[in-house]
Amino acid sequence: MSASVISGKVLAAQVKQEAAQRVKELRAQGVTPCLAVIMVGDNPASTAYVKGKAKDCEECGIESRVIHLPQQTTQEELLDIVDELARDAAVHGLLVQLPLPAQIDDQAVINAIPPEKDVDGFTAENVGRMVIGEDCYLPCTPAGVMAMIHSTGISVAGKQAVVVGRSNIVGKPAALLLLREHATVTICHSKTKNLAELCRSADILVAAVGRKGVITGDMVKPGAVVIDVGINRGDDGKLCGDVDYAAASAVAGAITPVPGGVGLMTRAMLMVNTVKAAVRCLPKA
Ligand code: NDP
Repeated sequence: MSASVISGKVLAAQVKQEAAQRVKELRAQGVTPCLAVIMVGDNPASTAYVKGKAKDCEECGIESRVIHLPQQTTQEELLDIVDELARDAAVHGLLVQLPLPAQIDDQAVINAIPPEKDVDGFTAENVGRMVIGEDCYLPCTPAGVMAMIHSTGISVAGKQAVVVGRSNIVGKPAALLLLREHATVTICHSKTKNLAELCRSADILVAAVGRKGVITGDMVKPGAVVIDVGINRGDDGKLCGDVDYAAASAVAGAITPVPGGVGLMTRAMLMVNTVKAAVRCLPKA
C-alpha cells in the first residue's frame, strides 16, 4: 500500500486564500498589512526565498518591502536599518533573511526586531513565549509542519513523535509544538546512537537534517506520518528531501513530498503571521 501524499501545494493555497480574505477585511478597516524583508548579500538561495516571499505577499494583498544590502554591510549599519523599520508604524512584520555574512551576529540582529513585528518567531521573547505556551508568533516551518500533520486527521496526543534535527529554527520548535499537543517526543541529532531504531518507533516522524536519504524506508514505522523538512540536491541536481521518498511512501500512512511539501507551507505561514501582526494594529474599538 502506498502512503497518502500531504500536498503542500494544496494546503498552502488554502492557507493563503484565508490570509488574503483577512487582508481584504483589514484593508476595509484602514490597515494595509506590510512585511519588510532585509537581505544582506547575494546568496542565491536567499534571493530565491526573498522573491518567493514578495510573490506570496502580492498574492495575498500584503504590501512588501525588500531592503537589499551589500555583502560587506556592518552589524551596526544593519542594526540601524532594523531600528528604522522597527519604528515605522506602516511596517507590521519585519524579518532578516538568514544566513547573514560572517561579520554579523545573527542572534544580535534578530533580537533587535521588536517581538510584535517578529513574524519569523525567532526572537528570544517569542521563543520563550512559545515554550511557556503564551500567545506568540510561531516559527513558520514548525507551524507548517503541524498544519500538515493536522491535515491527516490524526490526533497528536499520546503519539510517539520523533524529530530528527535540533536547530533553533526547525527541530527544537517542531519538537516543542508536538509536545504542546501532548505527543511523547524524542529529539535526535548527529550524536544520536540508535537513530534507525528510534525512527522506527515514531507514529509521527519529522526529518529536519539537510542530508539526502538520511531516513531510509526501513526506518519508517508502517502507517506513520512522515514530514520531510529537508531541502537537498540529488545527484541529478533535482531537489529532494531527507527521506528516501519512494521507499518510505511504500510503508508510511502519509508523507510530504519535496518539492511541493513543507517549503510551501513555511511560506504560507509567514503570510498568516504577517496578517496577525497587522491585526494588532487595528484601532481599538
Ligand atoms: P541545521 O544544519 O541547523 O540542523 C541540522 C540538524 O540535523 C542538526 O541538529 C544536526 O545535529 C542534525 N544532524 C546532522 N546530521 C545528522 C545525522 N546524520 N543524523 C541525525 N541528525 C543529524 O539545519 P536546519 O534545521 O536549519 O535545516 C534542516 C533542513 O531543513 C535543511 O535541509 C534545510 O535546508 C531545510 N529547511 C527547510 C525549510 C522548509 O521550509 N522546507 C525551512 C528551513 C530549513 P547536531 O545538532 O548534533 O549538529
